Amino acid sequence: MKELTHYIGGAHVKGTSGRFADVMNPATGEVQARVPLANAEELAQAVDIAAKAQPAWAAVNPQRRARIMMAFVGLLNRDMDKLAEALSREHGKTLPDAKGDVIRGLEVVEYCIGAPQLLKGEYTDSAGPGIDMYSMKQALGVTAGITPFNFPAMIPMWMFAPAIACGNAFILKPSERDPSVPLMLAELMEEAGLPKGILQVVNGDKEAVDAILDHDVIQSIGFVGSTPIAEYIYGRGCANGKRVQCFGGAKNHMIIMPDADMDQVADALIGAGYGAAGERCMAISVAVPVGDETADRLIAKLVPRIEKLKVGPYTAGNDVDYGPVVTAAAKANILNLIESGITQGAELVVDGRDFSLQGYEDGYFVGPHLFDRVTKDMDIYKKEIFGPVLSCVRAQTYEEALGLAMDHEYGNGTAIFTRDGDAARDFANRINIGMVGVNVPIPVPLAYHTFGGWKKSMFGDLNQHGPDAFKFYTRTKTITSRWPSGIKDGSAFSMPLME
Ligand code: NAD
Repeated sequence: MKELTHYIGGAHVKGTSGRFADVMNPATGEVQARVPLANAEELAQAVDIAAKAQPAWAAVNPQRRARIMMAFVGLLNRDMDKLAEALSREHGKTLPDAKGDVIRGLEVVEYCIGAPQLLKGEYTDSAGPGIDMYSMKQALGVTAGITPFNFPAMIPMWMFAPAIACGNAFILKPSERDPSVPLMLAELMEEAGLPKGILQVVNGDKEAVDAILDHDVIQSIGFVGSTPIAEYIYGRGCANGKRVQCFGGAKNHMIIMPDADMDQVADALIGAGYGAAGERCMAISVAVPVGDETADRLIAKLVPRIEKLKVGPYTAGNDVDYGPVVTAAAKANILNLIESGITQGAELVVDGRDFSLQGYEDGYFVGPHLFDRVTKDMDIYKKEIFGPVLSCVRAQTYEEALGLAMDHEYGNGTAIFTRDGDAARDFANRINIGMVGVNVPIPVPLAYHTFGGWKKSMFGDLNQHGPDAFKFYTRTKTITSRWPSGIKDGSAFSMPLME
């Protein structure tokens, strides 16, 4: 049995806690490796190493730090196939999708090559008599991130690239479901020239996370995962005085106006609803056609497309549209929710429950499902399913469709499909959701914009990547200076004024 490690102080380090988690092959249901689960002592060792290494790293000029990011981009491209294969083997997603996972992370690394420009401070000459004022952005120190299983390359890079470009040390606690790629990324960063101890990977579960939350030296925590854990981490991390940003679950609605091009809508929904087996926080899980006639046309276009979907292991190459879900527990949860949808009265238009694949009977494959006439009170509408299940909620008017998305507790992403610019503009202005697509089904912002939801999809103030990341991973210090020749007065007892 392959035994994975931590990556601490520039070396692969065996776990010492005696606790391990199985890493499954989701396509076969077999255990393919085991990963150590760190305890507080192991986490503390990594923090000590990070704290010793970080001041020298912060003192490296930003341009040299950026060069390491540049070299890292080259190595990611060199090892793209290897990374994608390792990612698919543990996650289950198709190889093109796995490459997309790496590339969307790589794009944030590219953005971080701009660190010298992004970290420049501000300067006011002669802010008062003989007085100059300037501000600088300084690294926080030791920072940490806790990441989900569904993007094991992209989300770690979204965190560690800006953290490290800003001069911090970073401790990554990746998902225990697919830990191999994060370990490979740490090795590549060192091959690119990063000093040892600046990026470390501590594998684990709740015990390691709690150790991160409670460690005094750790200054900031980034989290991406499900909403209950996001709320927990935000609460405990903030109570411990840390800077925290947590990104949670989603239930993304697509509003379909009567004037939309229904072929475009159906194509978009197939990719956004079923791609990656629905295991994306920006997946569309709710379609809201406006008017029954729109709904009937939509269902008629969707059904034949869904029936053609090819589900299988990533090793089948281009013959596969999406792979298995990540664990047996995830599959059981999805199937339970599907049963609840039937019991609570939704119409199951495409039923994938009897899906099975010869030779992969023990894999965690879930056939595609389509529900029509879903209502607000049903569990399949209220809960995040995170599987290949699309729910159609019929609205009679645009206002009703808008209200549905507005009232849902999640607010990650949404989309409207229409030819009507007024409707699109109104939707973009009024909706209380963080990322909005206009005829774009998965509106994931590019690296130089920021990524983040609203409502129960996000806890904190600053988004991921883009300019917000450089704010999250730095502190501003403002210096007011006057040299002896500019000092005219003696002691002053009133509030100093710059006059
Ligand atoms: P998860 O919440 O189960 O796990 C995320 C991380 O938290 C993992 O590293 C895990 O080890 C850790 N964790 C799990 N249980 C914990 C506990 N009790 N205490 C402390 N730490 C714990 O999420 P997941 O299943 O890995 O990922 C899927 C979820 O992530 C979905 O809800 C999805 O919507 C969400 N997600 C959100 C975004 C976003 O940007 N908003 C992006 C990707 C995924």
